[in-house]
Amino acid sequence: MGRVYNFSAGPAVLPEEVLKEAAAEMLDYNGTGMSVMEMSHRSKAYQEIIDTAEADLRELMNIPDNYKVLFLQGGASQQFAMIPMNLMKNKKADYIVTGQWAKKAYQEAKLFGDARAVASSEDKTYSYIPDCSDLDISEDADYVYICENNTIYGTKYKTLPNTKGKTLVADVSSCFLSEPVDVTKYGVIYGGVQKNIGPAGVVIVIIREDLITEDVLPGTPTMLRYKTHADNGSMYNTPPAYGIYICGKVFKWIKKMGGLQKMKELNEKKAKILYDYLDQSKLFKGTVVAKDRSLMNVPFVTGSEELDAKFVKEAKAAGFENLKGHRTVGGMRASIYNAMPIEGVEALVQFMKKFEEENA
Ligand SMILES: *Cc1c(COP(=O)(O)O)cnc(C)c1O
Repeated sequence: MGRVYNFSAGPAVLPEEVLKEAAAEMLDYNGTGMSVMEMSHRSKAYQEIIDTAEADLRELMNIPDNYKVLFLQGGASQQFAMIPMNLMKNKKADYIVTGQWAKKAYQEAKLFGDARAVASSEDKTYSYIPDCSDLDISEDADYVYICENNTIYGTKYKTLPNTKGKTLVADVSSCFLSEPVDVTKYGVIYGGVQKNIGPAGVVIVIIREDLITEDVLPGTPTMLRYKTHADNGSMYNTPPAYGIYICGKVFKWIKKMGGLQKMKELNEKKAKILYDYLDQSKLFKGTVVAKDRSLMNVPFVTGSEELDAKFVKEAKAAGFENLKGHRTVGGMRASIYNAMPIEGVEALVQFMKKFEEENA
């Protein structure tokens, strides 16, 4: 069997070119006679891999010098704890709850201090982004937290919340490198890479230097302090070395593709094909408020659980994998990350049209 069109929400599709390159280098990376997997992370060859990855990411995102780039482990979920442990100086933080990941982060923060939900879209199954232009932000909040793209529900902030001067912390796991960002608007940008950048096991944290201090909550383990990793160039202990190497290749691929502006244009084009079809379909419909639609995760339903299941099954047989919606929302979800080619989206829409005709 050849490669399928993989619409998984994560771990997700990676550029074929990157996979082929990694395969070609598997036994002998760049004349070292070994795989990157087998290499000391203290070796010159590996130092060059991680340094190049960081430099390319800095270039792609235009990351200012007063931000550190950390390559960590523990998944995005570990950041749910690391953020309050390191940033909750006043033990106060405001959370905007736009889905399960934001809610998990909010609940985790409550273990460490006074976390407040200042807005939520839970009332309508997270199908929209609340108006965040004038929230009741606490005077002494240490930060305001968002999940910028809601992987499960398929919503995305089109404008960042007005934090009233407080530090903005954003989980961008499922929209990382999907479009240009102004890093200076954030104190912390972080994400697990397994959605849009690389293999599971790496989390990238981009953090403003003044937020990296020794003044962390009492009992914060060494490994969970940003300072530990910042002071050691993400090499305090063995980093997720092979994963970082693949991320580096994806950064190079994005650069070659034309950078984040180009990614954005491509992503808009792909998403439009799918949303335009959904908007006129008599069978399928999108589940979120149009203005808040994600470019990356597109949930849709037929309105009948039976037909949904039939669609997922027939799609799979036709080579469209992982279209089943998240277990908590049902229906379908097509994740169309950077590495999903436009042909994949076009083919999916053709298949949906055919299914609609057959099941009218
Ligand atoms: C997948 C996901 C997570 C969880 O990531 P893990 O690496 O499994 O901990 C958190 N936030 C968002 C937005 C996600 O999409």
